[in-house]
Amino acid sequence: MTQENRYRAYTLRNYKELPQIKNLSPEEIEAIEVVGRVLPFKANNYVVNELIDWNNIPDDPMFTLTFPRKEMLSPSHYNQVLKMLDMDTRDDVYKEKINKIRLKLNPNPAGQKQNVPTMTGDKLHGMQHKYRETVLFFPSQGQTCHAYCTFCFRWPQFSGMSDLKFAMKEADLLHKYLKRKKKVTDVLFTGGDPLTASAKALSSYIEPLLTEEFAHIRTIRIGSKALSYWPYRFLTDKDADNLIELFEKVNKAGKNLAYQAHFNHPKELSTKAVKLAIERIQNTGAQIRTQSPLLRKINNHPDIWAEMWKKQVDLGCIPYYMFVARDTGSKAFFEVPLDKAWDIFRKAYSSVSGIARTVRGPSMSAFPGKVIITGVTEMKGEKVFVLKFLQCRNPKLVGIPFFAKHDPKATWLDQLKPAFGESEFFYEKENLLGKKVEEDVLWE
Ligand SMILES: *Cc1c(COP(=O)(O)O)cnc(C)c1O
Ligand code: SF4
Repeated sequence: MTQENRYRAYTLRNYKELPQIKNLSPEEIEAIEVVGRVLPFKANNYVVNELIDWNNIPDDPMFTLTFPRKEMLSPSHYNQVLKMLDMDTRDDVYKEKINKIRLKLNPNPAGQKQNVPTMTGDKLHGMQHKYRETVLFFPSQGQTCHAYCTFCFRWPQFSGMSDLKFAMKEADLLHKYLKRKKKVTDVLFTGGDPLTASAKALSSYIEPLLTEEFAHIRTIRIGSKALSYWPYRFLTDKDADNLIELFEKVNKAGKNLAYQAHFNHPKELSTKAVKLAIERIQNTGAQIRTQSPLLRKINNHPDIWAEMWKKQVDLGCIPYYMFVARDTGSKAFFEVPLDKAWDIFRKAYSSVSGIARTVRGPSMSAFPGKVIITGVTEMKGEKVFVLKFLQCRNPKLVGIPFFAKHDPKATWLDQLKPAFGESEFFYEKENLLGKKVEEDVLWE
């Protein structure tokens, strides 16, 4: 191993050892100290040395993606924490105050807890089953990441707020659950980043799924940011070869290994290491699909998306989702109104060839499902958003267009009102999403 592929994390405790920190102003350092106590902060040597442009601080997108900045907290929260900088972080009063702020930042959006399945009365906390075909699994060893994104909505999982942790210890329960659910075709391993788990831990979850009992499971999906934050995971890490072998085994068993890669900016696709890692994954027979939220200060321009999608296609990856940033954490810093999001999507989409137009968006993962904005238009003299479900708790509602009153400022589904003076959206009628749906179409 060389210096560059030996993983080294930088957190509040040691980031000042970085020579690049000399480029920061005292205000920027203070912001890291303050905001980093509320939102999780972790960078690593690859992010610091190969992705961040230290001549472009603080506006460099990769810096903003991983280093806390002042505006990520409201002025009142910022000042509260600033006054607490001298306190012992193990002090109960300190912890309580910090947790109070964290709870105000809505750490559990889109009813994630409501989608935790049960089996013989027990809640299966490491799983989420919201859409009939796909079960999400959060391996307990994968509840961290190789670096932390400042926009992340999963941060309660890493910041010691343990009652919000979805992680499940036993692979056994996952397998028992899936054995019964014959309509499930996809298991999506997520986190945190499931690829922070060892190849051995991942094998214990995945290999049993390759047997005859699980013939209904067709696709093993892995949602990960390791390609952008630590491509050496696939190249030189101690168990990189074992991980690659595991991917090969999935394909040899006649199933798909679908790798859902999180890339937020074209810069993440530019290094030699990421290109080699992508190639290595593809050589196992796996396909890589890509996704990212749309984020102010990181990628809120159509040219950035077009460049990102083109680069992905060049590297043999399939553009998959553009998400609207969730209503949590530092959302106020990153948010882009839906109207603007649609405009960026459309301009980027129309500037690439059909090969890259596999991407869907902008999509909100909201309580009822994944809702995309398919257009802004005028109907019956009213300006409206045209929306539809890409995914829904009730699969019968997928793909049906519906309309919301146009609102240039709205940033999330819950701020939208039905168009044409109606009192409810179509899916709110007749309990189309409620308990009965689960019994009818999800859990049988
Ligand atoms: C997005 C998502 C999935 C997967 O949806 P696909 O459209 O199949 O990629 C599954 N579960 C949840 C909760 C999701 O948000
Ligand atoms: S990689 Fe994903 S889970 Fe990890 S910090 Fe970033 S957004 Fe959050």
